[in-house]
Amino acid sequence: MKQIPFHEPYITDEEIAEVVDSLRSGWLTMGPKTARFEKEFARYIGSKYSVTSNSCTAALHLALKAIDLKPGDEIIIPAMTFTATGEVICYFNAKPVIVDVDRDTHNIDTSQIEQAITSKTRAIIPVHFAGQPCDMDEILSIADKYGLFVIEDAAHSLPAWYKGRKVGTIGDITCFSFYATKTLATGEGGMVTTKNDEWAERIKVLRLHGISKDAWKRYSNEGSWFYEVIEAGYKYNMTDVQAALGIAQLKKVEWMRERRAYIAERYTEAFRGLDTIAVPYVEPDRVSAWHLYVVKLNIERLQVNRATFIEGLKAKGIGASVHFIPLHIHPFYRDTFGYKPGDFPGSEWIYERSVSLPIYPGMTDNDIDRVIEAVLYLVKGLRDETAA
Ligand SMILES: *Cc1c(COP(=O)(O)O)cnc(C)c1O
Repeated sequence: MKQIPFHEPYITDEEIAEVVDSLRSGWLTMGPKTARFEKEFARYIGSKYSVTSNSCTAALHLALKAIDLKPGDEIIIPAMTFTATGEVICYFNAKPVIVDVDRDTHNIDTSQIEQAITSKTRAIIPVHFAGQPCDMDEILSIADKYGLFVIEDAAHSLPAWYKGRKVGTIGDITCFSFYATKTLATGEGGMVTTKNDEWAERIKVLRLHGISKDAWKRYSNEGSWFYEVIEAGYKYNMTDVQAALGIAQLKKVEWMRERRAYIAERYTEAFRGLDTIAVPYVEPDRVSAWHLYVVKLNIERLQVNRATFIEGLKAKGIGASVHFIPLHIHPFYRDTFGYKPGDFPGSEWIYERSVSLPIYPGMTDNDIDRVIEAVLYLVKGLRDETAA
């Protein structure tokens, strides 16, 4: 039986040729291809600046450096996200203030943001769950009212559109991930987009040891060996080998989204009528990147838990996953900030019943059919069991 893994990156001869070209050129780390990838990404997104980093986590960290986050400051984040969204806030001894999510979209519940705002709040980090943009009009208007920055965690949302606007051009700063499982994969990698000149410059300096670029320009007549360190920076730069993958992947980023959207459509068509599972809720005014396809099991009706369901898929050679374990459930957030189970019931409700199914461009129609068949079989089989 052929295995259908939960994820497979879409790597073709184009990616391989571009990487080989980098290897043959002798330029392995940040160089001409990184610059080209940034330029092409900025053109694609329509952002004034695009700055690469070695991960989305690094990108988020640099974004918080750009807004000059201070110890004791607070940042609002959703409960339903990966720890990267929260951990970067902790780097500053600042506080991640968790807000519950909407049970349909799994995105931050904008009606609960205002009650989480204090005099110490500096920014909101919305996460576009599974690739579907958050309610950005509401978030921007709350941010405007309280003087907060909006830094988007767009790790799932390349490419995605909110009311016709491409993610990457909406908030103050947007951070993308090019991790191996994301919609554009360079193995590890990230990107910051912004239209703020000062922030873009500071992020460029900080991602490479705090070395001033202006110093290069100013002293170029003294020779290229001269540079000045203007801040304690980080080693967060992308490499040209990663950028080579990025350049090749960016060309097909819309085609890959269409493939995933097709798979999502097939799944939704097959599962929509069932009262045993809920298909992803799609807002009519946005276009999702479809990074994930998350079904929610009607566990009251099925009387099985999510673990059994995933085991059942595994037995049929199909990989699945869970996105995410709510942040406040993890020991670190619990013990450090005093959160406890029960604090964010929406996220816990989602967590208990969520299963992420395979969705990636390389899936064949036969693969899609097999996933559908397996899910239908499990749902039906498990129901029959409980009925018997
Ligand atoms: C993957 C992910 C990140 C982190 O991305 P890296 O590039 O691996 O650092 C951040 N936020 C969310 C929501 C993610 O899924």
